[in-house]
Amino acid sequence: MNLFESMGLRSEILEAIQEIGFEKPTPIQEKTVPFLLESDQDMVALAQTGTGKTAAFGLPIIQQIDHTVNSPQALILSPTRELALQIAADLNQFSKNLSKLNVAVLYGGSDIRKQIKDLEKGAQVVVGTPGRTFDLIRRKKLKVQGIKWLVLDEADEMLSMGFKDDLDGILEDTPKEKQTLLFSATMPKEIVTIANKYMTDPHEISVGKKNIGADNVEHHYYLVHAKDRYVALKRIADINPNIYGIIFCRTRAETKDVADKLMKDGYNADALHGDLSQAQRDHVMSRFRTGHLQMLVATDVAARGLDVNDLTHVINYNLPDDPEVYIHRSGRTGRAGKRGISITLIHMREKGKLKDVERKIGKQFAKVAVPSGKEICEKQLFNLIDKMEKVEVNNEQIEPFLPVIYKKLAWLDREELIKHFVSVEFNRFLQYYENAEDINVDETFERESQRGERSNKRGREDRMRGDRGRGRGGNYNYSRFFFSLGKKNGVSKRTIIDLINQNMPGKSVEIGSIEVLKGFSFFEVDQRYEKELTKAFKNARYKGQRVGIELANKKK
Ligand code: ADP
Ligand code: MG
Repeated sequence: MNLFESMGLRSEILEAIQEIGFEKPTPIQEKTVPFLLESDQDMVALAQTGTGKTAAFGLPIIQQIDHTVNSPQALILSPTRELALQIAADLNQFSKNLSKLNVAVLYGGSDIRKQIKDLEKGAQVVVGTPGRTFDLIRRKKLKVQGIKWLVLDEADEMLSMGFKDDLDGILEDTPKEKQTLLFSATMPKEIVTIANKYMTDPHEISVGKKNIGADNVEHHYYLVHAKDRYVALKRIADINPNIYGIIFCRTRAETKDVADKLMKDGYNADALHGDLSQAQRDHVMSRFRTGHLQMLVATDVAARGLDVNDLTHVINYNLPDDPEVYIHRSGRTGRAGKRGISITLIHMREKGKLKDVERKIGKQFAKVAVPSGKEICEKQLFNLIDKMEKVEVNNEQIEPFLPVIYKKLAWLDREELIKHFVSVEFNRFLQYYENAEDINVDETFERESQRGERSNKRGREDRMRGDRGRGRGGNYNYSRFFFSLGKKNGVSKRTIIDLINQNMPGKSVEIGSIEVLKGFSFFEVDQRYEKELTKAFKNARYKGQRVGIELANKKK
């Protein structure tokens, strides 16, 4: 069965979903719609965001609502205000060819009297967040005795947002003989407990890990040092001039910080996090939804209610600890048949975690190199020229201004003119990227130095050689030493210089490049002091701790 037509839906509903543009049911819709039309058994469904859950429960419910009865028959609980509003809007869409469906939406932070009025008007379907819904039940404004369907949408999110007590309260109050439908992306113990306590012999459905269009999502990662994260983000934004995406951060502080920097650097970005008032959140979301904002920097919680279908990118500023979170995030792009890219910035130590996520999503990440300044400039230039070529010229309105403009620019020939126009926009990139470094992490290099290996690789040699010594005119031959302590012991370049000076009293030893890594370091000293230094360090101590040095390799 793979057509809406063969599921037993009424023609009015079929017409409505056709008008919305659903061509064929998603896997979860295939499984739930016929089931819910035929059975009143409880149901537990394991399904991710973006799998089409709203229609999965919404279509069969609206088909079975008794339109002659003006009291709540279906109660749908949802974790956020935005999701609740979205569900209500979807249900109204689905039922637009049926006699009017009364839907009330209940959520906190908004005038309760208006919501009470909606209920009194005879709401047949109630969509609400658990807190406000339970509040209205306790005030006896929402009567749940006639409920035939209870939907717990995104049950895991509701629990993680602290709605456990409200859910318990609501579930206690509803009649026994209703049909309960529980949807969740994950099945932690608490969900199983709820299912056992409040549901009878639920029919279980799982639609695997697949989101709608999950196959349209490419998973990319960029390997950079933690300190280069922001710079990498900028380059990613710059190489994708038409990016429309969400950048996920771990904390509010990080969200603010990244958004502030982006705005300061001239990007069309803003932040969405829990410190904003509801009005501010609404404002940011609506600017983003309408495409006036290109990049939204957000925490997972704050972005929850945001439903946007044509995101080009989802960017994970950090790799989330929980692979489920990654799945949620990446499921926000590649929707409705469009292509999407989920990008993750990671550093060396996160490669193992990346493997976990790969296993979970059953897909491999592609490693992508952070673009160079030159690549970005090319891309931006092309984009600019393309825009200039395609821009619609409003002849009539521009006409009166032209004579003056022509006169002013008369001294420039065609080629010069093009150069000038392009430079107006383009200089920002040229300047910024003029001396841009390669910030990609050289994996072979990292792995070797983490093991403290002493092979003498060319690439490494070049990086290790600082501009000391040589740069200052002294032409030293250096010996390279491995040093047994690193950043995690509190060691810095300064520490190493001090230690050398302390242990070689009275000598002025020329020091070459120093590299402090996490658990150990490397430094170079004038080759002539090689033996003496080795001896002097036999008893050397740092903060009371013995230190070891060892000859790493010699420079020719
Ligand atoms: P979920 O609640 O599982 O996160 P939604 O019900 O919000 O997912 O659906 C996600 C998006 O997919 C919505 O924009 C919805 O309109 C669209 N969608 C749902 N079902 C279909 C379908 N059968 N065909 C095409 N698009 C669909
Ligand atoms: Mg949903």
